[in-house]
Amino acid sequence: MRYQGREVDVEGRVRLVMESALTARDRVGVQDFVLLENYNSEAAFIENLRRRFGEGLIYTYIGSVLVSVNPYKELEIYSKQQMERYRGVSFYEISPHIYALSDTAYRAMRTERKDQCIMISGESGAGKTEASKKILLYYAVTCPINAHMATLGDRLLQSNPVLEAFGNAKTFRNDNSSRFGKYMGVQFDFRGAPVGGHILNYLLEKSRVVHQNHGERNFHIFYQLLDGGDDNLLTTLALQRNPQNYSYLVKGNCPRLSSVSDKNNWKVVMKALSVIGFAEEEVQKLLSIIAGVLHLGNTQFGEGEEGETCITTETHATNVAKLLGVDVSALGEALTHKKLTAKGEEMITPLNFEQAMSARDALAKAVYGRTFTWLVEKINQSVALQEEIYHSGKGCSVIGLLDIYGFEVLQHNSFEQFCINYCNEKLQQLFIELTLRSEQEEYEAEGIAWETVQYFDNKIICDLIEEKHKGIISTLDEECLRPGETCDASFLEKLEDTLGGHPHFVTHKLANGKTRKAMGREEFRLLHYAGEVNYNVNGFLDKNNDLLNRNLKEVMCQSHNQIVSYCFRREEVMDQKRPEMAATQFKNNLMKLMEILGSKEPSYVRCLKPNDAKQPGRFDEVLIRHQVKYLGLMENLRVRRAGFAYRRRFEAFLQRYKPLCPETWPNWHGRLADGVSTLVNHLGYKAEEYKLGRSKIFIRFPKTLFTTEDALQAK
Ligand code: ADP
Ligand code: MG
Repeated sequence: MRYQGREVDVEGRVRLVMESALTARDRVGVQDFVLLENYNSEAAFIENLRRRFGEGLIYTYIGSVLVSVNPYKELEIYSKQQMERYRGVSFYEISPHIYALSDTAYRAMRTERKDQCIMISGESGAGKTEASKKILLYYAVTCPINAHMATLGDRLLQSNPVLEAFGNAKTFRNDNSSRFGKYMGVQFDFRGAPVGGHILNYLLEKSRVVHQNHGERNFHIFYQLLDGGDDNLLTTLALQRNPQNYSYLVKGNCPRLSSVSDKNNWKVVMKALSVIGFAEEEVQKLLSIIAGVLHLGNTQFGEGEEGETCITTETHATNVAKLLGVDVSALGEALTHKKLTAKGEEMITPLNFEQAMSARDALAKAVYGRTFTWLVEKINQSVALQEEIYHSGKGCSVIGLLDIYGFEVLQHNSFEQFCINYCNEKLQQLFIELTLRSEQEEYEAEGIAWETVQYFDNKIICDLIEEKHKGIISTLDEECLRPGETCDASFLEKLEDTLGGHPHFVTHKLANGKTRKAMGREEFRLLHYAGEVNYNVNGFLDKNNDLLNRNLKEVMCQSHNQIVSYCFRREEVMDQKRPEMAATQFKNNLMKLMEILGSKEPSYVRCLKPNDAKQPGRFDEVLIRHQVKYLGLMENLRVRRAGFAYRRRFEAFLQRYKPLCPETWPNWHGRLADGVSTLVNHLGYKAEEYKLGRSKIFIRFPKTLFTTEDALQAK
């Protein structure tokens, strides 16, 4: 019999699943890793994944954590009928699925009135964004509708193509890689209908606007506009259709993608913008900015008669000015000069060629990055919970979805990877805290004595990065602010001074004055919970400073383009205070995120990428092992398995195994706990093998359960 029957009723469903989980375990592996005999063995873990993947089963649990392997092909498991199958069904009664997790979170929110969050992690290309879309779609299809907010589901769903157009790009690892982190909170009313949403975005990779690695692209929207915009539009924006004409689009030498139709996606995005409620005029302004950035990239500099730096591409500069709604001579002046205030006096100094180029790129990044933030704010206004519902007094509950970059270990790791991996340390900290808490709560609720779990507490690494005054971020900020000559190398020296000898921090310098050969002189290594990563300090100061010359800001805040003038506020220019630096800003955002997540009941989706070729059916063990390690899955399993492998409610257990005992067959009429007790005594369970809680039986070893299951099959 095939494992995934479709037609089954509740009884049959239970039977089928039990069979898949237990008796068919040789063929398709176990559907929950806690049932692995040897839960400390990484080899057994990977073998189980491989077997299931081979059978087309991409989902497996670790208790309540869902592990997912990217199939790289469309599977027929996401239909509306499948959604129906999973509605209201208990997690364990049916094959693992993202819908099961979505449904369980939803029901927990409804019945326990507790806010939920679903945290999705994994490396780039592992399937995080697809998973989050599937969850959202599940809710949009299966939840009731609130008449006041009938179109909310559409608007929430349509926010995806828009954010992807502006925030995703083709990278080496993923043709549609999200270049920002995203948290989306969906609010539900007391009837369980979605009534509002809120999106938070993190750390957009702005550097991509001006530079792309070989084989990669800029953000999709640029190519979509050129390919999909009609002739009139392109004329208005003074654009040519061929992306090769734009220096910001040629760096990666990859203008087109076989897997993506820019033209079709353009239509999808324009439609989505209108569903979300963008006025035509706003869309025009938005596209002007996108075009303005392209012209900015083509703006070149040369030497004037007196050796000064000047713009040599008048047409492009004029187009930039027109499209961004600013004065062309003021823009030209600001791109080639720098305004400083010293002792209350303003000084204007000319920029050299390189400085002008980097001022131009800084402007492009700032304009694009701020426009992205504006876009998220606009979407938020459109999906915001309406006041009257909020004040109806019946209260709302929230399910949050976190789709954020996983641990990154590249050949060359820089400031971005540092931030991303810091974020993952924080998420791991939260994960341990919440998992232990919920295990403990379950034990308590069931009246079973808590058994201490040994685990690695990564607080020491979080402190190393974020501690005030001493941590890496503080040191970086100080070095950025310190007057006089500071550079990436002096930052590294400072780190060595303050952190040398820390058990999780390493540089090429050894304590005995010798040098560590395997490490570069511009590197520091962090021993993260998931493994070691070397970071190259080159560019750390610049990226943390993220400076835009003040005179450029002044020009921008006088823009006639309302989006631009919204993004560059006058107060920012007037305010002499130094704005927060990039790493600190990220740290503060993370703190807020941890608070949001920490107040909710968590579920987890861990995504794995089976090969680097984006191909179906290929399972690269080395690659998988690497991810299992960096996602901390073995540790996860260990914590989950520390006490008992298996737990089930009395009625489910009794229902299934009652044929094995004459006293419980065909029906047990007494208390459920007594029935289970009678049953397991008859089966010869030893005291150390199991415990009875208030409503559940806890079984310590999978073997006990398998023996019982085999007895049932033999009957
Ligand atoms: P991530 O967000 O983790 O970087 P994505 O969610 O963008 O990765 O997935 C990358 C690609 O993998 C998708 O564009 C899609 O082609 C494929 N993919 C991911 N998950 C699935 C799935 N469940 N079914 C089919 N294809 C998938
Ligand atoms: Mg993504």
